Amino acid sequence: MTTRGAASPGPSAKSIVVVGSLNMDLVLRVSRAPAAGETLMGRQFSVVPGGKGANQAVACARLGAPVTLIGSLGADAFGAQLRQAMAGDGIDTTHVVTDDRSATGVAMIQVDDDGQNRIVVVSGANATLEPIHVDAASAAIDRAALMILQLEVPLATVEHAVDRAVRAGLPVLLNPAPVLALPDRLWPKIDYLIPNESEASALAGIPVTDPSSAMEAAWILRSRGVRHVLVTLGRQGVVIVGPDDARHLAARSVQAVDTTAAGDTFIGGVAVGLREGMTLWEAADLGQRAAALCVTRHGAQPAIPFRAEL
Ligand code: ATP
Repeated sequence: MTTRGAASPGPSAKSIVVVGSLNMDLVLRVSRAPAAGETLMGRQFSVVPGGKGANQAVACARLGAPVTLIGSLGADAFGAQLRQAMAGDGIDTTHVVTDDRSATGVAMIQVDDDGQNRIVVVSGANATLEPIHVDAASAAIDRAALMILQLEVPLATVEHAVDRAVRAGLPVLLNPAPVLALPDRLWPKIDYLIPNESEASALAGIPVTDPSSAMEAAWILRSRGVRHVLVTLGRQGVVIVGPDDARHLAARSVQAVDTTAAGDTFIGGVAVGLREGMTLWEAADLGQRAAALCVTRHGAQPAIPFRAEL
């Protein structure tokens, strides 16, 4: 398949627009999960910038693209820290609004000694991102190469942003996480749908456990009008189905210590590759190289690599 991204080959000044969430991750390391009514002493506590929108924006920026983030923060300390962290990665935060009525989104993450995560997310300001905030970024959207979205902000805003991207002629990359039923009218507007195996399974309505079932799910999702489906399968790599071709690309063999943000890093790599005019296969390979490095390090944003490290 020779599908190419919107940008012409070679570096371009065009940016990637990310429409999505910013959360502060409050990470508790515990020996085991506490039972109801039990108080347990934890081992360690850390506060790290996160949220799928912010993570994917950071991945794009570290892998070499100019990035504009459209999102919403609360007027609180976490909001100020997140804005500063994004700016520190060179991300344009002009269109990250501050909502005086909401708290910044948080994710409370318990990680136990078996490496199991238990996560509670409170959306806060992310839930107040509205279509008007997307419209305020019209000039940036018109200048962009590609738009990336996830589902941690209201679906009405996602749909509005997708329509705005389509009008500007931008390819749309949707990471359907957390998974929810998508309206029929949205599917044909998506150029690149990137679910992980559980999201692919929920959307396609079949179990997805390996490359062959992922391929089957990808065909089902393509039949709804999406142009390319990329199902990520953790250490089993990624399955890609497009208009002319379908392939399984194996993951790099690495010693994984923490897979947090692997999917976000992969998506950043795909978007950056497409922006540079790579074929989808080349872009997916860039994504897998970056994600393989990400899983050898602890944490979410701290683990996302820079292009020079690949
Ligand atoms: P997360 O929610 O933890 O960010 P995800 O479930 O969205 O991740 P995965 O399918 O786990 O995404 O991983 C995305 C990509 O990262 C894979 O397609 C693969 O390229 C790479 N990857 C993940 N786990 C491993 C691993 N153990 N070894 C090598 N590569 C990995």
